[in-house]
Amino acid sequence: MTLDSGLNADWRARSLRAVWHPCTQMKLHEQGGAPLLPVARAEGVWLHDHEGRRFLDAISSWWVNLFGHGHPAIRAALIDQLQTLDHVMLAGCTHAPVIELSERLGVLTGLGHAFYGSDGASATEIALKMSAHCWRNRGRPAKSRFVGLAGGYHGETVGALAVTDIALFREAYAPLVRLAATVMSPDARGAEAGEGAREVALRAAAALEAWLDEHHAETAALIVEPLIQCAAGIAMHDPEYLRRARALCDRYDVHLVVDEIATGFGRTGTLFAHQQAGITPDLICLSKGLTGGTLPLAAVLCTESIYEAFYDDQVARGFLHSHSYTGNPLACRAALAVLDLFDETDALARNVDTAQRLDAAFAPLSAHPRIRHARRCGMVWAWDVADAPADFARRYHCHALDQGLLLRPIGPTLYTMPPYVIDDEGIALLARGSLVALEATLADA
Ligand SMILES: *Cc1c(COP(=O)(O)O)cnc(C)c1O
Repeated sequence: MTLDSGLNADWRARSLRAVWHPCTQMKLHEQGGAPLLPVARAEGVWLHDHEGRRFLDAISSWWVNLFGHGHPAIRAALIDQLQTLDHVMLAGCTHAPVIELSERLGVLTGLGHAFYGSDGASATEIALKMSAHCWRNRGRPAKSRFVGLAGGYHGETVGALAVTDIALFREAYAPLVRLAATVMSPDARGAEAGEGAREVALRAAAALEAWLDEHHAETAALIVEPLIQCAAGIAMHDPEYLRRARALCDRYDVHLVVDEIATGFGRTGTLFAHQQAGITPDLICLSKGLTGGTLPLAAVLCTESIYEAFYDDQVARGFLHSHSYTGNPLACRAALAVLDLFDETDALARNVDTAQRLDAAFAPLSAHPRIRHARRCGMVWAWDVADAPADFARRYHCHALDQGLLLRPIGPTLYTMPPYVIDDEGIALLARGSLVALEATLADA
């Protein structure tokens, strides 16, 4: 790594003393095995450090950025909002940005009654509580358990960890967590001889059916990441799984919660991933791309029938959940600007073209002899590295930085989900650099 000098080194040292970085063993930073990247400013797909180097944000800053950093339209909306109304509590008060955003999300999802939180994990908490409380209000309190998919990821608060099936994130907290059940993932990589993605989906749906048949009386909801289980290693599945899951949830009186926190807002090709299956969920969780990567915000929308279960003369039958910053006007304005950008730039259609250019550029990487399961869904690409050396993800990350790329593989899975505004220069750098970084990582193993 060539990051260790002057201003960068200074910020890095101060950060390591004062900041506890997320998802990080801090000692590894100290030993220099994974250098922190001090970012001074960002524009479009580029992150700039303090010493004149730039890095392509090829994972959209943990999947939140859509239209690039510092987008002028989002910035203008935020400045305007800051001059009008910064924040007001949403219990007992209301304001135009939250009303307009709720109306538009309602139209786009076919659901309604948007309830706001501050991040993805809080959206999961809201959806799980809403589902179980709904059944309780309907006189079926036994329906208070959840089921999720193997490898599922829905956030890391204590409640959300119950449905997050990733051992590394959960093991230390096992005694705190009321574990949900886990059923087979429809991950297409699980195909056996003679099977395609659809057959795996059918097999996983059969496993779900068997499970629900036995446990539906105590099950409130099934929670799924539609089309791509991102944290599981960009595991993709056939939309048929979602159609079957919808039918089974209807048959067994179980809510279907779709967690579109990572897959929403065009990532998979449609505005929402579940739309590719032609279904409507009972609850939807949104966050990450909702504000285009500018401010933290989450929303949960539900069916009319769930809402009605809470609508009553008794206060205690209401949904009394709250966050201090619920429906923050600045975050809502950013989200409205993002929805405008989808309309004004025809982003979904443009992404089809951008994705084709990226596919062509990635052809040499996909054909690399160590690559397995080269795959894409919408604006998400992933490749599994066969016989990946120990510590592959960390070492690849360092080699990618040397190529001017911010990439963080998940275990042996290399992936990218670039901002939608990536241009030909960025595409060329990403395709060439990710292949060079792979060769370098394999060479020094
Ligand atoms: C990132 C993510 C979450 C959690 O969101 P945070 O804002 O990090 O709490 C939940 N579900 C999915 C599918 C995610 O990708």
